[in-house]
Amino acid sequence: MARLVIVGSLALDTVKTPFGEVKDALGGAATFSSYAASFFSRPSIVGVVGNDFPQQHLRLLQQRGIDVSGVAIEKGGKTFRWSGYYEYDMNEAKTVSTDLGVFASFSPRLPDGYKAADYVFLANIDPELQMQVLSQIKKPKLALLDTMNYWINNKRRQLLEVIGKVDILLLNDSEARQLFETPNLVKAAAAALKLGPKHIIIKKGEHGALLFSNGSHFSAPSYPLETIRDPTGCGDSFAGALIGYLAGKGGSGEKDLRKAMIYGSVVASFNAEDFGLERMKRLTMPEIEKRYEEFESIRKF
Ligand code: AMP
Repeated sequence: MARLVIVGSLALDTVKTPFGEVKDALGGAATFSSYAASFFSRPSIVGVVGNDFPQQHLRLLQQRGIDVSGVAIEKGGKTFRWSGYYEYDMNEAKTVSTDLGVFASFSPRLPDGYKAADYVFLANIDPELQMQVLSQIKKPKLALLDTMNYWINNKRRQLLEVIGKVDILLLNDSEARQLFETPNLVKAAAAALKLGPKHIIIKKGEHGALLFSNGSHFSAPSYPLETIRDPTGCGDSFAGALIGYLAGKGGSGEKDLRKAMIYGSVVASFNAEDFGLERMKRLTMPEIEKRYEEFESIRKF
């Protein structure tokens, strides 16, 4: 199993959907993605929290085999907090507030054991931090990057710079349109490929995800879910399962990537069934494999 390092937010989320609400629940891009990756490999995370971050949250991650030695605890600092809501169209989170807290002044120094990682996931966080983490990893075999509108609006130049250094760029459809200033996703993907990545994945919420590579494309379906309670973290769990699967297998080719996208879609679909990490906490590998097979069968014609 190859070493996988993930950097991204560790957060306390306050979320409201038409089906309920949670206050200061464990969230963040590194949290959801590492938890999802842990079904397939043993990720190590890089990030920072304040001492208002309950110890039990870190223990929960450790119990999944996630290495948290790269998570700094800032005394007297405040943990990153995000607050948002969803309306009946659950494809789009509406942000109420983003409080970077200890992430505003974070300067990551990777534990030595992290530096030989083969797989790196630069999950959603300040692109300058993503760059700092990537530059400390000696020779990554595969680097994947995710982002969101907040960073497109606030750190566009730095974001474009780090996109130029990764193998796979992951965006949702509205972010792709915004970043590449076109309503057309095929044109957005072509513009993204010109920046350097070999593959672009565009997530389309409940409509699946598209993979664009030079000369080919692939479309992963979504799962027709009856129960969607909270889609927070679906993008991160998609990405975490995707890179976790690749790291577990040691793969990086187009064929592996297509399978990885299906595992990503499977885990993300489970994640939406309950608030925060609740559904993933109950999730088992046999459930993942069963839904993976269903994905295969809904695509046969
Ligand atoms: P998603 O997978 O796209 O639903 O991501 C949800 C997670 O993103 C939440 O748990 C938030 O804590 C986190 N988040 C929200 N805004 C930001 C931001 N600007 N930077 C990093 N993480 C964020």
